[in-house]
Amino acid sequence: MSMRVLHYDLDVTLSPVPPESPIADAPGNVATRCTLRLRNEGRRPVRQVRLLVYRLLNVASAEVPEGTLALGQAQRRIPLDWTDALFVNRVTVTLERVVEPGAEISLTVRYSGPLVGYRELGAYIHDSVQRDVAVLRPEVLWYPVPGPLSWQGFLGSWSRATFALKVRCPEGWDCFVAGARRSGPSDGLFAFESTGTASTPGIHLYAGRYEARREGHVSVHHLPGGEAWARSAAAAGAFALGELERLLGAPPVGEGHATFVAIPPGWGSQNLFDIITQTAEEDPARTFREVAHEVSHFWTPIEGDPDRFAEAIAHFLQDYLEGVREGPVAVDAAIASHMAALGRQPEAATAPVVGAGSHPALDTISREKGPLALWALARTIGVPGTMDLLSAWAGTSGGGAAEFTAFLLERAGAMKGFQARRFVDDWFHADICPIDLTLAPDAAVRQAAAHYLDPEP
Ligand SMILES: [Zn+2]
Repeated sequence: MSMRVLHYDLDVTLSPVPPESPIADAPGNVATRCTLRLRNEGRRPVRQVRLLVYRLLNVASAEVPEGTLALGQAQRRIPLDWTDALFVNRVTVTLERVVEPGAEISLTVRYSGPLVGYRELGAYIHDSVQRDVAVLRPEVLWYPVPGPLSWQGFLGSWSRATFALKVRCPEGWDCFVAGARRSGPSDGLFAFESTGTASTPGIHLYAGRYEARREGHVSVHHLPGGEAWARSAAAAGAFALGELERLLGAPPVGEGHATFVAIPPGWGSQNLFDIITQTAEEDPARTFREVAHEVSHFWTPIEGDPDRFAEAIAHFLQDYLEGVREGPVAVDAAIASHMAALGRQPEAATAPVVGAGSHPALDTISREKGPLALWALARTIGVPGTMDLLSAWAGTSGGGAAEFTAFLLERAGAMKGFQARRFVDDWFHADICPIDLTLAPDAAVRQAAAHYLDPEP
């Protein structure tokens, strides 16, 4: 697609189903006026602009400052190898005059409709406007993108375009947007201006009947009935932030503050840096683990990380924090759970961590084998040595598992008795499972670590 969005100007109205509706979880509506600043970055003049929006959003009009334009829309399928169910509304706008290469236009579309997510694709994309909460993330195409009809094109289309956003919410609602400066509300209208500081591209909007709870550098915004969760999350957040700052130094992002915004269980937590969206779970132990995990991401560079090595680090730090709070038994339990996951999925156990991004078992490799590699490292060079390494890595511009191994090898000269090359080869490059999954966790990690120490003289 040769047309690139430079800037979005969005005016959004969120309308949940009213409380008197007999169906409590009936989906509400969004109504949006969106002006896109588009530039033709191709080599040919463009006459038709193609945009993708969520499958149930109906585009009512398209216009440029000179007048209204002809508009077509059709349900189209994005071909994927794992599902044939990702449908989008493809909108075609025909311009009166072509846009020459390098030229820009300002195009306004108005659209509205219900938002019920993409639950048919799996457990994750629940984005919708509900009675007490609305979650609108780029995955659900709640604003138009000029992506081609391919998954890669679709992901690539979450550009880092700047944006200005006005959100009209029901009375009593609060509203958060990642990577944006907020003003308001006045008369239920919140205004946001992008700062470009979110961890993930695209526009992430969260609104709902939120109430705030503060503890030190941590704020927690919870939904009605979420007070107990908010207490656990605030305590866990303050603990994780304090402990990780002590171990790793000031976080390179997030300015030492954590702002949690609750989302319903199962909707997918994410550290977007200026806000952390966190699924509000009932079980305090689970809340501790999940909060510790998301706080850890303040220290995981994620630019250019196709193998999701940031997940390996966040899981390792999360395990470590559980150990600080609960004692060594908690670390053993975490290691046992990583080992069990690899036992259930042998193809992940033997897959190298470098290159996991193109492996079907990416999730298991990054979240289970990756942290085990870091535990083997911690048993070899010690926890303080590992934390020093992670602290220094956090200060870099990032990269994936391959860049991390280069970084480790560069610094390994200073780690006495550590056979870093062998460690990197076994855990990151070879098609082997470098840990004996039949042993008890502590014994297994100790045995794995022993391979990478110089023999005693
Ligand atoms: Zn994570």
